[in-house]
Amino acid sequence: MSNYPDLQLYIGGAWRKTAQTLPVINPADESVIGAVPVASTRDLDAALEAAERGFAIWRRTSPSRRAEIIRKTASLLRERIDEIALDITREHGKPFQQARLEVIRGAEFFEWDAGEAQRTYGRVIPSEPGIRYVVHHQPIGTVAAFSPWNFPLSQPARKIAGALAAGCSIIIKASEETPAGCLHIARAFHDAGLPAGVLNLVFGVPAQISEYLIPHEQVRLIAFTGSTAVGKRLTGLAAQYVKPALMELGGHAPVIVCDDADPVKAGVTSAIRKVRNAGQVCTSPTRFFVHKDIYRPFLDAFVERARAIRIGDGFDAATDMGPVANHRRVEAIETLVEDARSRGARILAGGERPAGKGYFYPLTVAAELPDGARALEVEPFGPLALINPVDSIDEAIERANALPFGLAAYGFTHSAHTAHMLAERIEAGNVSINTLEASVAETPFGGVKESGYGREGGAEGLHHYMTVKNISHRMVL
Ligand code: NAD
Repeated sequence: MSNYPDLQLYIGGAWRKTAQTLPVINPADESVIGAVPVASTRDLDAALEAAERGFAIWRRTSPSRRAEIIRKTASLLRERIDEIALDITREHGKPFQQARLEVIRGAEFFEWDAGEAQRTYGRVIPSEPGIRYVVHHQPIGTVAAFSPWNFPLSQPARKIAGALAAGCSIIIKASEETPAGCLHIARAFHDAGLPAGVLNLVFGVPAQISEYLIPHEQVRLIAFTGSTAVGKRLTGLAAQYVKPALMELGGHAPVIVCDDADPVKAGVTSAIRKVRNAGQVCTSPTRFFVHKDIYRPFLDAFVERARAIRIGDGFDAATDMGPVANHRRVEAIETLVEDARSRGARILAGGERPAGKGYFYPLTVAAELPDGARALEVEPFGPLALINPVDSIDEAIERANALPFGLAAYGFTHSAHTAHMLAERIEAGNVSINTLEASVAETPFGGVKESGYGREGGAEGLHHYMTVKNISHRMVL
């Protein structure tokens, strides 16, 4: 088994150590597995200078050459899948097979955006004779990006793919808690021949880094994935300097189970999906509104499957769900479950933290939560499912839309009419019917309301990384 990597910053095509480091913890046993470097302002200045040089080269690199380097990187990630997945499981805790799937997903983001690099079409606008209006897209410049800990590789992959495909340079601050995923991306780009300075990777104190980089004149776009609270702070800072921001923030995904759906299949599918990444996914299905006529069989099927989920070390092949990624998530889930219990909700599976080392918390099912239960309002971001009966689909839609979030939403129905109505009326950036998959590389992903703005992936994914320039050209003066 390879060792956990020697973590370094990657600036101007070179690896860099720092005087100060922070420990990286394995959430399965709370042991220290590595030391993540903490960037100083000198390191950040070096990253800014490198990104400026990188942008000057990369913006003049043809889209086909950019695509070639990005595709080569994706193929290196695929070749190194086991080594990378090993490090992801060590630092994040997710089962090894889920870590492998994450590497594949990250590679898919790169491959899709590599293709999009060659399709950033402009247009010619009809005009009077002798003049031509041409709309042209240009890379926006240096991007300052911030990626979270829940998907150590695929989260930074989304941002790096968009920026590099569009012709931008990027300084990315990846997660200090799960740093190896992004380190492997930087290694792969280095080996694929990316010019120095196009991609720069830093770690450190998140607030210090964002407050230093965002105001800097050279930074032209802020791209963040994380909590709504931090997103609001960074959006405010970006606005102060009149900079665009791409914000992928929290959700609290509703699932509407209609009376014509198969309640057992929907219940089992939902319990299995809830376990993915121990529920630490911004699109994780969480608020279940189930039509009263099929409530009982749905709940029974969900609870039976939830009780059978095996939690344990991500390297144990029998494990369905690993630990959550940090102690904050355990405490957050514990608090929400205790609140729900104290208000009279029924806790039908899980609900107790196991003894011993590691940030483990079982898949927990809370049913019939009264209005006012904190979990119905605060995104649990962990293995907690909230299941309530509703009298009608109208009531379910109203409750689904009641929160300030709107990222992913789901429906189970066999009626095309009901599916259409759900898709039309639910306030979310992504609505999925009879599937709990909310985003793939080829579809645009992002939120409405306080879940953020902008889209990653799909044909829309590169728009934010580019500016629109109109060129008016009179042929003769
Ligand atoms: P948090 O709000 O402290 O941090 C969220 C993320 O933002 C982390 O990656 C952190 O490093 C980064 N961050 C924090 N302050 C920052 C700053 N000033 N500048 C730049 N980056 C900053 O919370 P947390 O405990 O790490 O995560 C909990 C919450 O975050 C969850 O409840 C969930 O809502 C949200 N979250 C969302 C996603 C997502 O995919 N949308 C991913 C991870 C976390």
